[in-house]
Amino acid sequence: MPNIGCHLSISNGFETIGKQALKIGANTFQFFTRNPRGGSARKIVQGDVDALLKLMEENGFSQILAHAPYTMNLCSAKEETREFALNTLADDLRRMEFLPHNLYNFHPGSHTGLGVEKGIEYIIEALNKAMFDDMTTTVLLETMAGKGTEIGRSFEELKMIIDGVERKDKIGVCMDTCHVFDAGYDIAGDFESVLGEFDKIIGIDKLKAMHINDSMNSIGSHKDRHQKLGEGTIGSEAFKNIVTNKYIRNLPMLLETPNDIDGYAMEIKTIKSYFN
Ligand code: FE
Ligand code: FE
Ligand code: ZN
Repeated sequence: MPNIGCHLSISNGFETIGKQALKIGANTFQFFTRNPRGGSARKIVQGDVDALLKLMEENGFSQILAHAPYTMNLCSAKEETREFALNTLADDLRRMEFLPHNLYNFHPGSHTGLGVEKGIEYIIEALNKAMFDDMTTTVLLETMAGKGTEIGRSFEELKMIIDGVERKDKIGVCMDTCHVFDAGYDIAGDFESVLGEFDKIIGIDKLKAMHINDSMNSIGSHKDRHQKLGEGTIGSEAFKNIVTNKYIRNLPMLLETPNDIDGYAMEIKTIKSYFN
């Protein structure tokens, strides 16, 4: 059985999101730590968190994935944006301890003209400030499409960040299939080679989660527009090959496709059918 789920709304609390995941056949899910455009995080109610942890335990959930808001840009040229991002990151990582031993994914950021090197310097600095000694969360850098000045468009850029992080056992990567494809990696034609390159540059043990999305655009387009599975340029055959790969099949896999809840239930069913 794969660990498969999708992005769900946390607006009705932790127990509700767990129940919703169950209802669509998921055994993991992703949620935003706060409004995707930033702002304050919702109050954590211990009883609600406990109910989710119990539900996850009873139903054999894998790790779940918290996603940072899109506005969190640790490497902006604007100092106040960086400061806000650092505060958000630090607060999110403290709050993650209510759900111990799970995953926290974020977009490395856009350097907005500073250049890749300076941007990476800022990202590393922020991570080293916000991560703490006895944290149980693993922080994941998401592979990016390379839209505008996005950092994380290549395995080399992600590796540079990881190299600068002090708590190496707490940092990893979440591979987004739409993003890597749009960044120029041919996961549709030769996924094994792409993974080989990931292993050579970053190390396969750093790959901790997958975002499973088809793409609306061609390889190398740097666009980042997700499509439903099998309806985009990556295609069903490729996804079957990707999710059943021996290095991928046991990772948490999260759909971020343009779907309503029924659409997600269908895609989860499809993914599971690849394991029969
Ligand atoms: Fe993302
Ligand atoms: Fe993603
Ligand atoms: Zn995306």
